[in-house]
Amino acid sequence: MGHLLDLLPRVHAEGHLVAQGHACIDSALRLSQMTERERWDVDLSRPRFEWREGEAVIFAGPCQVLGTWVEGDGFLWGHHNPSIPAAGWSELKPRLEAIAEVAPLLGTRAFDVTKRDCALVMQWLAVRAGSTGCFEGPVGQATIFLAVTLDDGQGAGGWCSWCGSTRAMVRSLIAGPRGVMMCDGCGANVGDILAESGPRPSLPSEPMAVGAAPTLRFCVFCEQPRDGLVMGPHAGVCRDCGGLIRDALASRGP
Ligand SMILES: [Zn+2]
Ligand SMILES: [Zn+2]
Repeated sequence: MGHLLDLLPRVHAEGHLVAQGHACIDSALRLSQMTERERWDVDLSRPRFEWREGEAVIFAGPCQVLGTWVEGDGFLWGHHNPSIPAAGWSELKPRLEAIAEVAPLLGTRAFDVTKRDCALVMQWLAVRAGSTGCFEGPVGQATIFLAVTLDDGQGAGGWCSWCGSTRAMVRSLIAGPRGVMMCDGCGANVGDILAESGPRPSLPSEPMAVGAAPTLRFCVFCEQPRDGLVMGPHAGVCRDCGGLIRDALASRGP
């Protein structure tokens, strides 16, 4: 019998997946700063995730329940939770079974883990299983972890993983892998930082951890572990990729 925490070394080794999931989901949610008009909603019978501002759908898409976490009880898989309809997990379960190191863990009902470790593993799991990322939200006393695929709403055309602007709000978005994008404004900032730092860069070598974002040293564009990352709120871009983004923006002209 394995334990969910056995996955942590693998999660850290593939930390770029965690960063990407965080970047995508948090950028989506940061677009709306949690004012009263904004709310998220999940309909487990369809099952579908929606983030709304008033009547406007900001981001939406199909979702599946990875599981829930409760203080004192730890993590419970969605497919072992009788209060979650089968539609809420049945599409995800085969995708989890296909991940070799995860399959043996699916038979165990619950794991004693901290919420932070749980969130790291769930973010990795969601992206590994092919979703955009993991959304983590409160439901009563529990925290629900949803593997969401954001494919609808105002932000469906993509958004900047650094500042959260949607395609409609910026001049252009430069696409990296797996949905990570940077807008022209953030790309220009990266270009400025690179220019100021000169040939011997003095870029921040200690990535900032903001909110629940893990401290990772991966470039989310080339997916390689690098030093001297230019950090966004959730992840960094390396000097090489920052240069490519700057050049791509320059070639597009004003
Ligand atoms: Zn931006
Ligand atoms: Zn890079």
